[in-house]
Amino acid sequence: MKISPSTSWRLKDTLYRLALGKCKKCGNIKFPYQKICEVCGSLDVEKIFSKGTGSLVDYTILYQARDGFEKQSPMIVGLVRLDEGVDIVAPITDAEPSKLKEGVRVEAVFRRMRNDSYNGLIQYGIKFRVVLDAGNN
Ligand SMILES: [Zn+2]
Repeated sequence: MKISPSTSWRLKDTLYRLALGKCKKCGNIKFPYQKICEVCGSLDVEKIFSKGTGSLVDYTILYQARDGFEKQSPMIVGLVRLDEGVDIVAPITDAEPSKLKEGVRVEAVFRRMRNDSYNGLIQYGIKFRVVLDAGNN
């Protein structure tokens, strides 16, 4: 699978950091960052960055891998509620499914996402792992 370096560069705030958009008019927070508020239509949206901590709302296990993600199968994908109040879907790493439950504290970590077998690029990104010292274990 091809990974475009220019696409990775354009999406760096989404792939490598959790850039959120906070509307200065109505206070709505959105991931990923967008210049227009989807609630009130205001163009006065500030880019803020998540602390990368939150709670697991739910998760599922994918046994069929997409192209480029074969080595990560089976993949755990979680619905994470960031402490900023935004829900995002993200891969869960370093986790035993038996330890996952609603409300468990998670934190963002920077991890390898996939290899580009065509030109040898490695794409990195944000995954979430269970916080060990937050009463989760
Ligand atoms: Zn708004």
